[in-house]
Amino acid sequence: MPKIIIIFFGPPGSGKGTQAELLAKFTGWKKISTGDLFRAEIAAKTKLGVLADKYIKRGQLAPDKATISLVEKSLKQKASGFIFDGFPRTRWQLKELLVIFSKAFKKNDRVYALEVVVSDKEVKQRLGQRRVCACGKVYHLAYNPPIDDGVCDICGGKLFIRNDDKPQVIAHRLKVYHHDGEPLLDYFKKQSKLIKINGEQAIKKIHEEIVEKLKELRLI
Ligand code: AMP
Repeated sequence: MPKIIIIFFGPPGSGKGTQAELLAKFTGWKKISTGDLFRAEIAAKTKLGVLADKYIKRGQLAPDKATISLVEKSLKQKASGFIFDGFPRTRWQLKELLVIFSKAFKKNDRVYALEVVVSDKEVKQRLGQRRVCACGKVYHLAYNPPIDDGVCDICGGKLFIRNDDKPQVIAHRLKVYHHDGEPLLDYFKKQSKLIKINGEQAIKKIHEEIVEKLKELRLI
């Protein structure tokens, strides 16, 4: 059976992480989120985490080599498919990923990019109202608020704003995405391997559209 690789693209706050998670649950494929991997390293205070934290706080990309080493480690898991969230983000990372794929996967394995399209205006609105808990639970003050203001429903922890969700950092992350991330889509578009999804819809509707498109392409 050929392996399926779906690479999610989209600006920060596009909901691609949520969609990648839903798709992973639906298909049983493994999700590789470099943002989550970095946050786990930071929480565990590893050497790599301490290094990455300095970049992440400023909304800058973490060093490529650190990112690649995390991805390579994750790809060693056994799975019939992989879903990438937040990787690759630069031309160099895309080239490295293709090298890794050529070693890890067979010729008939199928690699597609999936772009979750959301405007900058919507991103600023969404991320500005995101609140998180140290336990991993994510809230949105308007769409998915906690029962008690500022307190996590699950563990009672104090909610906080991720450093990289602060307004000036959001603006910078968007700039980085448009400059470094978006141009990578051309590579997939040229090979008719780009799936576009409107990310400004309800979470469930977006998931259903993704599943429908993947079925049309006989990927699931
Ligand atoms: P995310 O949760 O995907 O928005 O990632 C949070 C932060 O982790 C980013 O703003 C970057 O600082 C860092 N990061 C995640 N993925 C990568 C990547 N592929 N390359 C470099 N830095 C990354």
